[in-house]
Amino acid sequence: MRESIYTIPLNDVFAPKCGCPVCRLEELLESRCTEYIMGAAMMEPDIRIETNHYGFCQKHFGQLASQKNRLSLALMLETHLDELMEQHMPHKFKKGEPGPDETCFVCKEIAAALDKMLETTVKLFTTDEDFRQLLLGQDYFCYRHYTQLCRKAESSLNRKQAAGFIGPLTQKVKADAAALREDVHDFTMTFDYRSAGNANTEERLKTAVERAIRFLE
Ligand SMILES: [Zn+2]
Ligand SMILES: [Zn+2]
Repeated sequence: MRESIYTIPLNDVFAPKCGCPVCRLEELLESRCTEYIMGAAMMEPDIRIETNHYGFCQKHFGQLASQKNRLSLALMLETHLDELMEQHMPHKFKKGEPGPDETCFVCKEIAAALDKMLETTVKLFTTDEDFRQLLLGQDYFCYRHYTQLCRKAESSLNRKQAAGFIGPLTQKVKADAAALREDVHDFTMTFDYRSAGNANTEERLKTAVERAIRFLE
């Protein structure tokens, strides 16, 4: 059950070609995880042991609180508070181990599932020409996920394969970044006194700042 909720076919992730595919994948894993712990996982004591231990970050507390099942959330909070009081008050610092204020069950789950899927992604890229075209034909990759994919290629492919992945992906992401930079620059030019009264209302310029942030955040 726990494994299967994170099983998403890669072609489904990459087929829509809308926005950063890894951001989309991350959001999908996130919603599957929060729905799971608020629903089916209620009956699984080993999940509760983990939520008691890891807790949740601000973002994921927000997502859990916005869901309907308040009882699930309250039960998790009850035993998480018990564990905090019993084991972490006063706080004991263990070297190299993050405290319960720094961990999140959802973040941990998503990171592990994403890591596996990115490994499959870089491997499939080297063996399947159709998938290679699909990946390089994406709308864009945000900088964070571009970096994560490159790191994954370096750690799980041989040197030649890694170069064959990082090269074309970098070419694509850099070309997108250059176009974005151009749009941001053209937007700044609309503030120039010489363009006063000649405001450019092109969509490309109106959305430039938002698109640049979306790429960088
Ligand atoms: Zn992304
Ligand atoms: Zn989190």
